[in-house]
Amino acid sequence: MKVEKEKKIIKRIKIDADKCNGCKACEMICSAFHALPKYSSNNPARARIRVIREPLADIYIPVYAGEYTPAECAGRDKYIIDGKEYEECAFCRASCPSREEFKEPDSGLPLKCDMCEGEDEPLCVKWCITDALIYEEAEEKIENTLMSDELETGLKALADKYGLEQVIDSIAQISVKSAA
Ligand code: SF4
Ligand code: SF4
Repeated sequence: MKVEKEKKIIKRIKIDADKCNGCKACEMICSAFHALPKYSSNNPARARIRVIREPLADIYIPVYAGEYTPAECAGRDKYIIDGKEYEECAFCRASCPSREEFKEPDSGLPLKCDMCEGEDEPLCVKWCITDALIYEEAEEKIENTLMSDELETGLKALADKYGLEQVIDSIAQISVKSAA
């Protein structure tokens, strides 16, 4: 087997919570962009980002909707930030059965950030005038396992001669013997 590295563009948004002023412009543009038809309505409950707001403590923390999870987790830790106590769930990105966050209000279907598919830059980033949201693209190499031409040709020839099942059986026997 030949292991090749394949290049992949990873998109991410870096959050500088210290710069967030809790204006919720990100929630509004996200919900408008995902309205049907596009921009026909604006309901932050449909946004794929939500901002935890504690104006009296000057705490604002944007949280993006991540993957849907069909089961509740066991995590019940608590965080204290500037004297204010938060449940662990407050910062969780998942749409899950135990809470209402990141669910489409009418259908209850899970919401997930799609990086504003089709746009050159996420709209929440464009609309955040304080630069609390920073868009980044990084190129990462992922491993891709390829069979060498020589090995592939050899296996094909054996399969033609003895039949695929016999080749598979023989390989299984060889691996059992080598493991013994
Ligand atoms: S638009 Fe920017 S400053 Fe306003 S709430 Fe969202 S992240 Fe915070
Ligand atoms: S990147 Fe797009 S989909 Fe994701 S939260 Fe921002 S506006 Fe919504």
